[in-house]
Amino acid sequence: MANINQNYLKLPGSYLFSEIARRVNVYKGDNPQADIISLGIGDVTRPLPPAVIAAMKKAVDEMSIPEKFRGYGPEQGYDFLREKLVENDFKSRGVDISIDEVFVSDGAKNDTANFQELFSLENIIAVSDPVYPVYIDSNVMAGRTGELNVKGQYDNVVYLPCTEANGMKPTLPSTKVDMIYLCFPNNPTGVTLSKEELKEWVDYARANKAIILFDAAYEAFIQEPDVPHSIFEIEGAREVAVEFRSLSKTAGFTGTRCAYTIVPKDVMLYDKLGEAHSLNSLWVRRQSTKFNGVSYPVQAAAAAVFSEEGKKQVKELISYYMENARIIRVALDKLGLKVFGGVNSPYVWLKTPENMKSWDYFDKLMKEANVIGTPGAGFGASGEGYFRLTGFGTRENTNKAIERIKAKM
Ligand SMILES: *Cc1c(COP(=O)(O)O)cnc(C)c1O
Repeated sequence: MANINQNYLKLPGSYLFSEIARRVNVYKGDNPQADIISLGIGDVTRPLPPAVIAAMKKAVDEMSIPEKFRGYGPEQGYDFLREKLVENDFKSRGVDISIDEVFVSDGAKNDTANFQELFSLENIIAVSDPVYPVYIDSNVMAGRTGELNVKGQYDNVVYLPCTEANGMKPTLPSTKVDMIYLCFPNNPTGVTLSKEELKEWVDYARANKAIILFDAAYEAFIQEPDVPHSIFEIEGAREVAVEFRSLSKTAGFTGTRCAYTIVPKDVMLYDKLGEAHSLNSLWVRRQSTKFNGVSYPVQAAAAAVFSEEGKKQVKELISYYMENARIIRVALDKLGLKVFGGVNSPYVWLKTPENMKSWDYFDKLMKEANVIGTPGAGFGASGEGYFRLTGFGTRENTNKAIERIKAKM
């Protein structure tokens, strides 16, 4: 008899986005004339930059020429792309990353989900609350957590509440943890950490032999000059951190798929005898067994993001989304709402008026303004009473939604 991986039974159904869709459909059924605008999207809406499209087309043509055709590529990615990543994302910020510390992949979602399998099941994970659900769910599937409890949290997981009191910035765990997931600029709160604040985490990890799994998927949205773009800008991080990056939000690759993970050769995991093993070597071993690389046309397209033209076009894309986020943030602020994010991130995280529950505010906004957002409670217990709006819509819809919120709320 084939038995199930019991850990999968700990997972509740994916409730958040299906519940949103259900409520919207019920409302649309009752109000077929309603013009509903979604500011809840976590996906980009603008097309790929022209430089990216041109490079992808050229690469596709090469695949039709016998002399230029490419079969299996290197599992870690082509050097032409990895060199560009090292140069533009790290060297330009004074960070030394070598090419064999860069692993090109088809997504930061899968990399953040897969990475935990290199660690002992006895390790304790820490996550901020609210959180991008992939970090927790992948650890549940692996069996690194207990059961879901009445608070809607898993036993044996250390949750780091992010609330108004700490400005949405997690505080260091008070019990020992081994794996720490951090995401800055944060999804869903839009908040970033300063160098000094991030250094506290690196120091904690060094003191406790913990490892930080740092998700920098929104790094390109940082506007303020003093915010670190990479955890490796912090002294000592090379010993204790892995960084996940993605072109999904940066350059419109959500449907095209290209991301990269930095695993420094200084990071070690320890076996039962206390002997050190290179995390970089383990990830090479894992990827070369379970992954066969990103397609050549996609890697060629990714490299074009870092051409002169590509950089200019990507900058325009980001400015477009960030202007939307600014419009949302400023308008809500004027309405007297407490807002976080929207400055170095496309996400605006607001405290609901009059301490409304996240889902009550969702219903109110949908019914009175015909605007859809994402209830904060869907990202974790500490997200209750908060709500996420995003700058990923069109300018027209963003302006329209804000006018309605101003008029009706
Ligand atoms: C969108 C997003 C990613 C990117 O995932 P991809 O698989 O590269 O598309 C990673 N982390 C967070 C927190 C995200 O919101």
